[in-house]
Amino acid sequence: MGDRGDRFELRLARAAELVERAGLAGLLVTPSADLVYLAGYDPPPLERLTCLVVRPGSDPALVVPELERPRALAVSTGARVETVGWRDTEDPYDLVGRLLWPTGAYGVTDRTWAAHVLGLQAAAPGVELVPASRAVAGLRAVKDAEEVALLSAAAHAADRTFARVCDNGLGGRKEVDVAATLGELLVQEGHDSVAFTIVGSGPNGASPHHEPDGREIGPGDPVVLDFGGRVGGYCSDITRTVAVDEPPDGFVEVYEAVKEAQERAFRTVKPGVPAEDVDRAARAVVEAAGFGDRFLHRTGHGIGLDEHEPPYIVAGNREALEPGMSFSIEPGIYLEGRFGVRIEDIVVVTEDGATRLNEAPRDLRAVR
Ligand code: ZN
Ligand code: ZN
Ligand code: ZN
Repeated sequence: MGDRGDRFELRLARAAELVERAGLAGLLVTPSADLVYLAGYDPPPLERLTCLVVRPGSDPALVVPELERPRALAVSTGARVETVGWRDTEDPYDLVGRLLWPTGAYGVTDRTWAAHVLGLQAAAPGVELVPASRAVAGLRAVKDAEEVALLSAAAHAADRTFARVCDNGLGGRKEVDVAATLGELLVQEGHDSVAFTIVGSGPNGASPHHEPDGREIGPGDPVVLDFGGRVGGYCSDITRTVAVDEPPDGFVEVYEAVKEAQERAFRTVKPGVPAEDVDRAARAVVEAAGFGDRFLHRTGHGIGLDEHEPPYIVAGNREALEPGMSFSIEPGIYLEGRFGVRIEDIVVVTEDGATRLNEAPRDLRAVR
């Protein structure tokens, strides 16, 4: 078995261990980042059931529609997984049901369609289906070196995209056009696909997830740019706020508060620190600047095969940070009717602190 096989064997073994530790009989994984992580297989979610069955004590089984079997086998990781095909005249839920113990609780991954959950439940009435996150929420949280390399490549491609979109100039352009340019640049700089492109100019920046519209960016407008895509399956996600020419009154003060909050949060990160402490560090700066109630969201989210995944950097999450965890630090201040400011980097926890994967400058940049 090659390195790749070893890597996936290890992941499957860890999943089985987490499942056992949570007192579950097994884990049911349908198309999602979890399936990519455990089986190296990334089919779209379909009405036809695809389901990886992880059972502590026996080999995992990958149940796939018969017509998808060649594709599933083509991406085989080399790990010991039995691939079982089902034909359109068969009932896939009965097939999965026969692979389960007749009783016990099975974790179902979050992204499983309700139709599949209900089908499985009807086929295996003695079994209890529970959210898999109860057992495996942190399964993908700690990244290995290869995963960090992909996250880093994605982050650097996003950094270059930011530099180029600023060089192009923003004044006189519509938000939607800048968003389209961001999409093109993300791909030119090495992304396989584009996930999202937020452009919030002037008052639109006060809505954190503003959908770019026909507003023309004018002189004096702050502009929030938040965008990302995927490299080798791994996500980028960066936010910078720039000013076209001279920013409006009060903007620089808000900008500096967000920048300082981002820096303090970053400096709080090290192994053993509870995730919520990173949030608290950012929030303390924003509160001291008098904008506590305008910091509308958590400080960050884990990132990997999914754009948003554990660990969440939010009050109440006491989970201790570990080396290899990757997440965003993205404080923001949103002033309705005026503007918004957000600064976001992806960071990775190291043995004694953290490194930023994004290297785009955080000092306020004036753009034409
Ligand atoms: Zn967001
Ligand atoms: Zn973002
Ligand atoms: Zn983010």
